[in-house]
Amino acid sequence: MKILFATSEAYPLSKTGGLGDVCGSLPSALQALGDDVRVALPAYQHALERVTGGVREVAALTVPGHDQPVRVLETLLPERAVPVYLISAPALFDDRPGTPYHDPDGREWPDNALRFAVYSRAVAALALGQAGLGWTPDLVHGHDWTAGLVPALLAQHERRPATVFTVHNLAHQGLYPRETFDQLGLPPAWWALDGLEFYGQLSFIKGGLVFADWLTTVSPNYAREICRPDMGCGIDGLLRHRRDRLVGVLNGADYDVWDPSNDPLITRPYGPDTLARKAENKRALQRLFGFAEAPGTPLIAHISRLVPQKGTDLLIETIPRLMSEQVQMVVLGRGEPRFAQALTDLAARYPRQLAAYVGYSEELAHRMTAGADMFCMPSRFEPCGLNQIYSLRYGTVPIVRRTGGLADTVVDASAEAVASDAATGFQFEQATSHALLEALRRALRTYGQDAKTWRQLVAAGMRQDFSWERGARAYQALYRQALQPPAQPEPAPRSRPSARVRREASGRLPRETSGRVPLPPPVAKV
Ligand code: ADP
Repeated sequence: MKILFATSEAYPLSKTGGLGDVCGSLPSALQALGDDVRVALPAYQHALERVTGGVREVAALTVPGHDQPVRVLETLLPERAVPVYLISAPALFDDRPGTPYHDPDGREWPDNALRFAVYSRAVAALALGQAGLGWTPDLVHGHDWTAGLVPALLAQHERRPATVFTVHNLAHQGLYPRETFDQLGLPPAWWALDGLEFYGQLSFIKGGLVFADWLTTVSPNYAREICRPDMGCGIDGLLRHRRDRLVGVLNGADYDVWDPSNDPLITRPYGPDTLARKAENKRALQRLFGFAEAPGTPLIAHISRLVPQKGTDLLIETIPRLMSEQVQMVVLGRGEPRFAQALTDLAARYPRQLAAYVGYSEELAHRMTAGADMFCMPSRFEPCGLNQIYSLRYGTVPIVRRTGGLADTVVDASAEAVASDAATGFQFEQATSHALLEALRRALRTYGQDAKTWRQLVAAGMRQDFSWERGARAYQALYRQALQPPAQPEPAPRSRPSARVRREASGRLPRETSGRVPLPPPVAKV
């Protein structure tokens, strides 16, 4: 099978979070299963700087909305044999402070809609064989709102590749005013409930959710959650409507990058049989942050975007009470300035116990994951979450809110789970600082008073296997399904709903009329 990934991140060329990790590692896991996978990524300046092999121009395209030719540059993902097409439009993907999506103050770049529309049009042209590459995919796998227009653009063509669209985070939808829709010159018919209109706005993510043949998200639990009104970000109706085409595939971890026995970024490699060496990583971390190098003092890590989704505010609220315990904590993150400031202030107040590094550091993330005893993730919602999966492998016990993929990957240390040796961490239910503090205290008690259970949790966590092979097989099975029977031009209904109430903009669309027989999905149907 020939598959083209359409993604705005792929580690190590570009990464702000889990999307980058997934699109940097799933393609090679699929390749190992025999598929021909290529990745189409915006040619950000920072991505061009991280390319390690050669780059050659393979095509130049005329794309509406961009007055210069959009060049297609071919390279390989560093340290992988995965071909990458870099979509080059220097005015759009130039070097900017902050992230590819936001300025340093967390405001969206004003030209984001244009940037990802031009990117999507170029990817659609590649996928339709219009760039003269001599390679056309059987299937395009689009990721998140930044690639949302790709399935919509492809659906306009009778002969087109099949499409799969993955939601990595439903909260990010790419919503813009009506004027933007007009400025982008999108087909007028798309301004409809069964198109890209969403409560009077243009929704990029609807391009994927309405038009892709199959939808996936990154954990079975999140796939169920996003079909509920309380978790569906206003678009749960559409997801319920497409439920028979929505599959939850749990993300995998790239153990080539995240394995303590073979991690060049940590102080001393270790594994389940050489756990004593983990203590050297802890000592190095304590030294780095100027803490007492006390082997028995529990050290908690938190690595995250600093946003309400991740429960940063809950953590901030909890810290003053937590600091009355004998504990040390290190936080690494960037995001909303108010949270960065609050963490910096707290670190100044508790210099011997709390350190906050505001910024982005891949190296520090590895060192913290290896050196800490516990990893805290109090997310309000969490599509999959990768840090808890990495932590398990590093023998760093996760403390997580029971939501999304966190619930799918961490087994709470209940008496039964401990007795059956299944427990790997600590969960809490309510999104409150009180519940978080309780869970942290439960973990601290076990660490301090029950060394046997603690060792058991660490060992059980390190035994877990979340490698990509399982996830790649699930995607491969889904791709096969998407290709059988051959793709039809219009997966979504074209009839304009007449007497529908406004509320249905969130998705109660007419049943699909493509005439395809829905086949059972390969895994975890919602
Ligand atoms: P999300 O994609 O919602 O941000 P995930 O848990 O799926 O969350 O993935 C987060 C990834 O980004 C992990 O690899 C994590 O280590 C990394 N990460 C997040 N913030 C930082 C940071 N400030 N510095 C380094 N790595 C970070």
